[in-house]
Amino acid sequence: MLSAKGGIILFKAQNYIKASDLQEALELNKKRTNKVLGGGCWMKMGKKNINTLIDLSSLGLDKITETDDEIIIGAMVTLRDIETSPVIEKYFGNYFKDAFTHIVGVQFRNCATIGGSVFSRFGFSDIVTSLIVLGTEVELAGGETVSMEEYSQRDYDNDIVVNIHIKKDGRKAAYESFRNTQTDIPVLNCSLAYDGKKLYAAVGARPMRGKVSTMDCSDVENSEEIFKFFEKIQAETEFGTNTRASKEYRKHLCLVLLKRAYKKLVCKEGEQ
Ligand SMILES: Cc1cc2nc3c(=O)[nH]c(=O)nc-3n(C[C@H](O)[C@H](O)[C@H](O)COP(=O)(O)OP(=O)(O)OC[C@H]3O[C@@H](n4cnc5c(N)ncnc54)[C@H](O)[C@@H]3O)c2cc1C
Repeated sequence: MLSAKGGIILFKAQNYIKASDLQEALELNKKRTNKVLGGGCWMKMGKKNINTLIDLSSLGLDKITETDDEIIIGAMVTLRDIETSPVIEKYFGNYFKDAFTHIVGVQFRNCATIGGSVFSRFGFSDIVTSLIVLGTEVELAGGETVSMEEYSQRDYDNDIVVNIHIKKDGRKAAYESFRNTQTDIPVLNCSLAYDGKKLYAAVGARPMRGKVSTMDCSDVENSEEIFKFFEKIQAETEFGTNTRASKEYRKHLCLVLLKRAYKKLVCKEGEQ
């Protein structure tokens, strides 16, 4: 791959180890110059000199499993696996398809992993914004399981993402993003989820990570109350300016996207 100046962009690794268990991976990852390998899609954009690449591919983390109360997604599951999973579709319909479809292209999403995406928790992430309104938890190799919302605000460390847990609590969700071109990173994205009692909303790519706002809501059809909630989110959320958009434009888009997502959500509710 060539950079804008024509130089090669690629990381170099001195060693490669296929971890035989999580403990080994965790030990290896304690060294700052070692790196866990997800799909490698983001890493290959950098020019890092890596000592040892830690491959998790033989740890069985490439599966989506359904239990009585949650869906467990292994760190090595690709974004495309999630988009096309019948289990995910059964509970969330097109939600993840809507959230992931603009991320580069199918071939890319066949490589990029949920573990690498959650660990990276980019300020522009569609993945983080889509997961945080679903009460998602992140299971780490060090033994902790933390809410996606908390994890997304943390500083980077050398723990390893093992699984993502999504609760099966009946939430229906809708996703919207706005991009300058179809497959560019988003100017703004937003997610809404409803469990029959509460409405959960997140606005991301501001260009900062999304945070969840909630509203008690027994009647999701009460658009007047809900639009007031959206206006409050718009007024209280911090937006920033970068090369893609100004903070004023993002603030304007915030209400537009929340209302579009609401329309989708209510439409889905109505269909069931
Ligand atoms: C050109 C381009 C465009 C993109 N556009 C978008 C977009 O529009 N929207 C969006 O949401 N995302 C976008 N992304 C991000 C992408 O979706 C993935 O999130 C990203 O590539 C990371 O996933 P990966 O599997 O490739 O991780 P890798 O590149 O393998 O790893 C990324 C980082 O995570 C670490 N890591 C990997 N797996 C784990 C693990 N299990 N535990 C701990 N650390 C781990 C690695 O050591 C590395 O530091 C884009 C990326 C690229 C390169």
